[in-house]
Amino acid sequence: MLFTETSSYEVRVIFVLVDMHFHIDSRWHKVEHLEQTLNDIKENRIIVAGQATDVPSYNELINIVKRSDYIFPAFGILPWYAHDVVPKLDSIDIPVNEVGMLGEIGLDYLYSPPEATPELQKALFEFFLQAAERHDMILNLHVRGASDDTLAILASYNVNRVILHSHTDSLESIKEATDRGYYITVNPVVLNPSDDGRRKIHTAIIKAIPEDFILSEVDTVPLDYEPPSKILRKLIDYMADLRKIKTDDLSSTIHANSLRLLKGAPTLNQYVKLLE
Ligand SMILES: [Zn+2]
Repeated sequence: MLFTETSSYEVRVIFVLVDMHFHIDSRWHKVEHLEQTLNDIKENRIIVAGQATDVPSYNELINIVKRSDYIFPAFGILPWYAHDVVPKLDSIDIPVNEVGMLGEIGLDYLYSPPEATPELQKALFEFFLQAAERHDMILNLHVRGASDDTLAILASYNVNRVILHSHTDSLESIKEATDRGYYITVNPVVLNPSDDGRRKIHTAIIKAIPEDFILSEVDTVPLDYEPPSKILRKLIDYMADLRKIKTDDLSSTIHANSLRLLKGAPTLNQYVKLLE
């Protein structure tokens, strides 16, 4: 935590904004907005966990990351592509010396194409879990309608640093996950839910995540563009309001949780220093 003494009587606390799940490659982020996003991240000193959705997006991400001191890359392949990828898993090298996080990976029984069967998705997921266990990597998980299988599979691996990204399967799965010490990122979609039913689920989940396991994410900037700093600040204000706490207190909590989660991964040292 950073403290700045502004006078002998007043100590102002500075919090670092953290975006624990962000897509910045050209499939998810317009190239014409890239410069603006990189500047916004730099000016506001936002720590960003850049996510990959397949090998080409990772290759693009790794080049963008070189232009920023604040974005670190994760390597992952979405379960949507399991049918394409599983037959050639032998040819995929997880860059364990380049990344401390695997994302985004997981199980998606709601939005995957039918060819990406649960069996193929599980094979892809376990391919990553083996590496995570061996190298103590952080997991950034996309789990949709698949909490039971995900939680069962995770229990069979020695993985301790787990994030469920924008997870809304159920309050029960949030409880089970956070009881195990997994973290939950809240997504700005909560600011504009598609309908009243979604608003209810989001509200209940924001209230239910225990203090020690709540995190923030941007995921993607909107097509009509808004800088990540603005999205994160609106999100934190909204969550603080629902949780009936001060915005500064929630920012401080998210900062502390992010630091606890990232600390110890050798490839993430330089980003951990920015949070300390
Ligand atoms: Zn994502």
